[in-house]
Amino acid sequence: MKTLRGVAAAPGMAVAPPAVLEPASGTGAPLIGLDAAVTESCRQLDLLAARLRDRGLPDESEILEAQALMAADPQLLEAAGQRIAAGMAADDAILAAGEEAAALLEELTDELFAARAADVRDVAARIARAVRGEAPPRLSRRSILVARDLTPSTTAELDQSLLAGLALEGGSPTAHAAILARALGIPAVVGLAGLLAAANGAAELLVDGNAGLVMLEPGAEGRQRLAHWETEHDARLDAERALHDRLLATADGHRVMLGANIGSPHDTSAALRAGAEGVGLFRTEFVFMGRRRAPDEQTQAAAYAQVLRDFGERPVVIRLMDIGGDKPLPFVVLEPEPNPFLGVRAIRLAERDPELLSTQLRAVVRAAAEADVPRPLIMAPMVADLADVRRVRTLLDEAVAAVGAAVTPQLGIMVEVPSAIVVADQLAAEVAFFSVGTNDLTQYLLAADRTNAALAERQDPMHPAVLRSIASLVAAAAPRGVPVAVCGEMGGDPVGAVVLTGLGVSELSMGPASFGAVKRALASVTLAEAQELATRCLDAPDAATARGWVSERLAV
Ligand code: PEP
Ligand code: MG
Repeated sequence: MKTLRGVAAAPGMAVAPPAVLEPASGTGAPLIGLDAAVTESCRQLDLLAARLRDRGLPDESEILEAQALMAADPQLLEAAGQRIAAGMAADDAILAAGEEAAALLEELTDELFAARAADVRDVAARIARAVRGEAPPRLSRRSILVARDLTPSTTAELDQSLLAGLALEGGSPTAHAAILARALGIPAVVGLAGLLAAANGAAELLVDGNAGLVMLEPGAEGRQRLAHWETEHDARLDAERALHDRLLATADGHRVMLGANIGSPHDTSAALRAGAEGVGLFRTEFVFMGRRRAPDEQTQAAAYAQVLRDFGERPVVIRLMDIGGDKPLPFVVLEPEPNPFLGVRAIRLAERDPELLSTQLRAVVRAAAEADVPRPLIMAPMVADLADVRRVRTLLDEAVAAVGAAVTPQLGIMVEVPSAIVVADQLAAEVAFFSVGTNDLTQYLLAADRTNAALAERQDPMHPAVLRSIASLVAAAAPRGVPVAVCGEMGGDPVGAVVLTGLGVSELSMGPASFGAVKRALASVTLAEAQELATRCLDAPDAATARGWVSERLAV
């Protein structure tokens, strides 16, 4: 038995024979022309979108609708047309044009761009198959699908009753196929180096979508692992289901507000279904990605208004764009930087290109007016000091005046730059709320690049330095009554959630998939116990020890 380690992309476990999906390649024997193939591909994608909508998955259906638009993208078709004119076969031409567009997106190194690259390749492969008159891939028995990079349309197209799991050599947890797998409840692991070669010829695979691993020929050991997981899973589901309608609170009823982290208007329905009381972090970067030009005010306003409307009375924290540095965009001119995480990132970009931020602020104000939200919550990322707050406030005041709407936004900040904690008392006098970005705060406090896998163990926010920082922030915020939330990954970690509650954090915002586990953890301690654990952790020698103490108490 061999085990391959990858990245967990959708939870669950399954054992089944592999079905290896070979990547599309040109044959040079086209049956129909490019235009007819595009029409056929759009028809297939629309059909799949309708099927998902009928299954009650409107957000996932939109992914395929977006692909139908990509299939008819004039730029893609023009690039393929030029190759055909130069003598290339139509299927090779569309594959090459798709590859070129995908490579451009991938060059931008951001995970979200890479996910869009997979969508473009998928669309091109579908058109190429249509050119060759090939039927879409099918499963003949219950299988674990093995592929280099699976696409949302193929995932949707396969008979889901036969799709036991997904194992991908490439991909990322934010790729649309992974999002769809999570929505459909199919366990998935991505980033499995050497998978295709290893799985070819294997009789059976085990996919563990929680641990992020795949076992080849799992045998008796694998079956035992599966049986154990199924028993635990059933018990966990029962416990979490019982808590679905309960608010987030400790055993003795101390309430903590439960917010959702979302990345696009597509995420709102899942967050509401899961019981989000609001949005604690709306990462707006998505509106800017996958575009050659900056989105205009109207385009942005439409996206923000949709989220505000979906959440109605519930609060939505719109975070201003956190781009630059490690998240470059084609239309933002960035100087090359040796340390992008310490570079011209997020609101710092406004010093060079104020119009980018001003347009977004006007779009938020306009969206709030359209959605009839008189006091929208705006959050500035990467704030280091009062000067940063004041710069954003000036631009915000200008935006309100420019739009002329009767909207008075509340300005809060992400606390993720350590200096903001040192001067938190000054900041508390001028902001409406604090929301701790533990992902960046940890990397900056511990000088450990969050993208460097070799430093993964140093990025645990349970480190006493991070906990003491949060404790001092809560203390600085209290005299002014400024609420402290946490929207970094720590909030969605049951251990972190209990300690944060003990430290006095009043809102936790996280991916909706974590709601159940966090509610269960918090319901298992009283406020006094959470405070006791937090106080003890402040004096822990390191993160692992602190984590161990809390895990032991929670039995997780
Ligand atoms: C954080 O830094 O904790 C955070 C929530 O923001 P992001 O992960 O988007 O940088
Ligand atoms: Mg951050």
